[in-house]
Amino acid sequence: MGVKLLLEKAHVPGIRGYDVYRSEGGYRSVEKALKMAPADIVEEVKKSGLRGRGGAGFPAGMKWSFIAKPEGVPRHLVCNADESEPGTFKDRYLMENIPHLLIEGLIVASFALGSNATYIYIRGEYAWIVDILEQAINEAKQNGWLGKNILDTGFDCEIYVQRGAGAYICGEETALIESLEGKRGNPRIKPPFPAVKGVWDRPTVVNNVETLAAVVPVINMGGEEYAKIGVGRSTGTKLISACGNINKPGVYEIDMTISVEEFIYSEEFCGGIANGKRIKACIPGGSSVPILPANLLFKTAKGETRYMNYESLSDGGFATGSMMGSGGFIVLDEDQCIVKHTYTLARFYRHESCGQCSPCREGTGWMEKILKSIETGKGKMSDIDLLWDIQRKIEGNTICPLGDAAAWPVAAAIRHFRDEFEWHVNNPIECLNRNFGLAHY
Ligand code: NAD
Ligand code: SF4
Repeated sequence: MGVKLLLEKAHVPGIRGYDVYRSEGGYRSVEKALKMAPADIVEEVKKSGLRGRGGAGFPAGMKWSFIAKPEGVPRHLVCNADESEPGTFKDRYLMENIPHLLIEGLIVASFALGSNATYIYIRGEYAWIVDILEQAINEAKQNGWLGKNILDTGFDCEIYVQRGAGAYICGEETALIESLEGKRGNPRIKPPFPAVKGVWDRPTVVNNVETLAAVVPVINMGGEEYAKIGVGRSTGTKLISACGNINKPGVYEIDMTISVEEFIYSEEFCGGIANGKRIKACIPGGSSVPILPANLLFKTAKGETRYMNYESLSDGGFATGSMMGSGGFIVLDEDQCIVKHTYTLARFYRHESCGQCSPCREGTGWMEKILKSIETGKGKMSDIDLLWDIQRKIEGNTICPLGDAAAWPVAAAIRHFRDEFEWHVNNPIECLNRNFGLAHY
């Protein structure tokens, strides 16, 4: 709480434009980084403990250090701006409000990784942000931060923006790479990881928008100073997009030492539950991560305070914990129906499955059908166990994480709210009443 590294200047009038951004200290990290050896920049990012902000939380410095040798082989940096995880809109906010921060981070990272052609792959629905980014890229180029021989270092770099066409799966890094190459966005089997064989079979690093923006404070402050913010392996700050039944939905920057309870109830952040209702549950990291009932949200199963960071949110594993994920924080009040909500997510994943592997292609379809039947009062008690079996057969048996992402919400909903599923089976008429409150707490 309190520390702002990414959004500190986001409300300065005119910050979207180059002149104001530069006058507020923008592009200092490029000046500093381009005097360093690329390997030293990677070392700073390693020291910072910065973890991938797209959802997986993989250490960014480690990922950068995987980029394949030998030197001289063309390699690429790709910025994953295909933000499509339901409940996640932090990258949109960052790109819309302070686009030069991303461009600055991209130039530093491109230099560190030796990428002369860097790509921003942005979801098609963010059409208006393409214009914002292209303007920022043009301004950076006009002012000598991009193009040939940047700052007389001999380093050349161009940034290209590529729009996706509306498929959630193209946010998965290998599907993104296929799409960038002009093919259908089908995920590839890993390994080989993109660091070895990425765009056009060249070594490629794919990083999320927020991760690349965070490279700017890492270089400005130095990795060690950055690592002092936050706690444990949750260093630095994290953007959280908060939505659902809260008083103040929005994008917030936190330093990962704040408790979940404080985040939800403090006026600085979510401002409490809307309409004076009680909280029922929360999905803390975007739709792919397990839902947590209120009794496991503020305290872990061990009775310890739960904090807004990678370790604390996952404390208890999937039995009693969840994940930080992408930071898409969805709050559900006491009136929300978990079965309906799970059905909505199942529909989404069935629609977005690319269909390459049968557990995902068939399983997501079956889960959607069964959930619809329970939700509309046509379900049987045995359907709940059938759902459980199907999600188990999907998890871990697919090419990409979309299969797991479809399975986990169903598993968590049954694990924590089985009585609500049973209630639907036992009360086929009443369950159609959307506002019928279910007394859980
Ligand atoms: P992952 O754990 O498979 O990979 C993490 C990153 O580390 C990848 O870039 C991968 O290439 C790299 N990596 C891992 N091991 C490596 C190795 N041995 N060598 C080289 N590189 C290696 O996860 P993922 O598929 O990147 O992401 C999954 C997450 O994405 C989910 O947990 C979900 O939270 C999130 N997600 C986010 C959005 C969004 O809109 N932000 C959408 C969908 C899913
Ligand atoms: Fe496609 Fe689903 Fe298999 Fe991923 S898990 S490759 S989305 S079918």
